Amino acid sequence: MKVVKTIEEMRRLRQQTRGTVGFVPTMGYLHEGHLSLVRRAKENDTVVVSIYVNPTQFGPKEDFKSYPRDIPRDLAMLESLTDIVFMPEDAEMYPAGYDTWVEVKGITEGLEGATRPGHFRGVATVVTKLLNIVGPTRAYFGQKDAQQVAVIKKMAVELDMDLELIACPTVREPDGLAMSSRNVYLDPEERRGAAVLFKALTLAQELWKNGEKDADTVLHRMMALIKQEPLANIVYISIADGKTLKDVEEIKPPALVSLAVRFGKTRLIDNVVIG
Ligand code: AMP
Repeated sequence: MKVVKTIEEMRRLRQQTRGTVGFVPTMGYLHEGHLSLVRRAKENDTVVVSIYVNPTQFGPKEDFKSYPRDIPRDLAMLESLTDIVFMPEDAEMYPAGYDTWVEVKGITEGLEGATRPGHFRGVATVVTKLLNIVGPTRAYFGQKDAQQVAVIKKMAVELDMDLELIACPTVREPDGLAMSSRNVYLDPEERRGAAVLFKALTLAQELWKNGEKDADTVLHRMMALIKQEPLANIVYISIADGKTLKDVEEIKPPALVSLAVRFGKTRLIDNVVIG
């Protein structure tokens, strides 16, 4: 496994690579969710993983500074799975005077985009830069960040990017909590309470299977369940069209049921797709 810290070195290695390249962009502090993407990427001849906590996708009051980091641990986890780990520096990704941004309109307006202004501009920009540097055949993203997958897919089509994007299923803890680097922020009580999120998403799926099509009814039942958990503070719960990501009144598959909920200082997101 080669660890590469400069864009020049990454490009040089890419030029020497034959066959297909699978790429998994991450912000590090890896867990089984990330590793599931890396394992899937092994369907390529070469696997590249990036570790980069991208400052431009965090709002001024968000957790960029405190975002968990543990590079030695990450590298040990990747050792047997990855050929190249790309870890660029901020100064090279965003040098002084940096002024070019990728903005996807429409589907970035709701959900995460509405509650984290500027987030998807940062995501779309850094993903474009990383794809330009690494030049993968296929890139792998987690369905855990459903809106991010939709934004990147739309961007890749509309900017004529020549690669395949693959969305991988959400990996969960035994109690259903979606794995996330941010779960480490939760204290034991918050961690126990956080299991309510997947229960609420599962409830939505069950109600739909039992014939309930009214989004408001399902949202109210989900809200009532989450409110039984005193440590949970709902940021949003949404049932949206799976393609446009706009809220719907009547649930028609594919529908994206998604939520953001705070436990203390920790903001967790999760989703399921109906149909
Ligand atoms: P992050 O390091 O949080 O930026 O995540 C890097 C990639 O891993 C993104 O494509 C995420 O959607 C994906 N990912 C994060 N958590 C999970 C999970 N629990 N299951 C599957 N993929 C995940």
